[in-house]
Amino acid sequence: MRLKHIKGAEEAVASSPFVIHDAKTRSGTWRQLFGNETPIHIEIGMGKGRFLMELAALNPQISYIGIERYSSVLLRALQKMEEAPLPNLYFLCEDAAELAEFFAPGEISRIYLNFSDPWPKARHARRRLTSVNYLERYGAVLSRDGQLEFKTDNEALFDFSLESVEEAGWRLLGCTRDLHQDPQMGQGNIMTEYEEKFSSRGNPIFKLAAAPAGISLARE
Ligand code: SAM
Repeated sequence: MRLKHIKGAEEAVASSPFVIHDAKTRSGTWRQLFGNETPIHIEIGMGKGRFLMELAALNPQISYIGIERYSSVLLRALQKMEEAPLPNLYFLCEDAAELAEFFAPGEISRIYLNFSDPWPKARHARRRLTSVNYLERYGAVLSRDGQLEFKTDNEALFDFSLESVEEAGWRLLGCTRDLHQDPQMGQGNIMTEYEEKFSSRGNPIFKLAAAPAGISLARE
């Protein structure tokens, strides 16, 4: 993704009450921050935050944390939060590679990945957010009934992600190669900024849901 640096973004992120700056000291205590015992869902690579802010407004019974590593991107989400603050949503301006330092084992109930950077060169495969080494990081923080949901319009990345799920020994809970035409998986779908852009060009949207091995979902 090409990134435009926005002047003042770092300062705005650093002083925002919606951003948690000491994430590494909060491992195991995130429910205290939200002041309740509700499940915590996170989005990694949340971009400008449209998906997560819509989700948080619709589900006050769930606590949300959005992770975005670039302040120039996160800035847009902060501006929206200032206009309409949501009590069940906080942001981290951090690299998801450090996820296991932010959260304790079992602290997170769901992880969303939406239109993650594809890193098309084979030598960069480990940087893909659906690579086995990232799935291991997610497995370390997901709860017993936890799961990962991933959407993309990139078929090569989607196929790679399905292989990662299998290689990591995770269980595939759902899979579609045309989300917007899939009545079951598409139900209640909330569009992201990238999803809006790519689906308006006619690209089908791919989605999978998966859970780490050993995790048994209550509904099964
Ligand atoms: N999820 C949004 C959407 O669907 O509209 C944005 C998608 S954009 C292609 C991917 C975003 O993920 C970028 O904003 C990028 O900075 C962020 N990102 C990529 N790798 C990341 C990482 N390791 N940690 C945190 N954010 C990351």
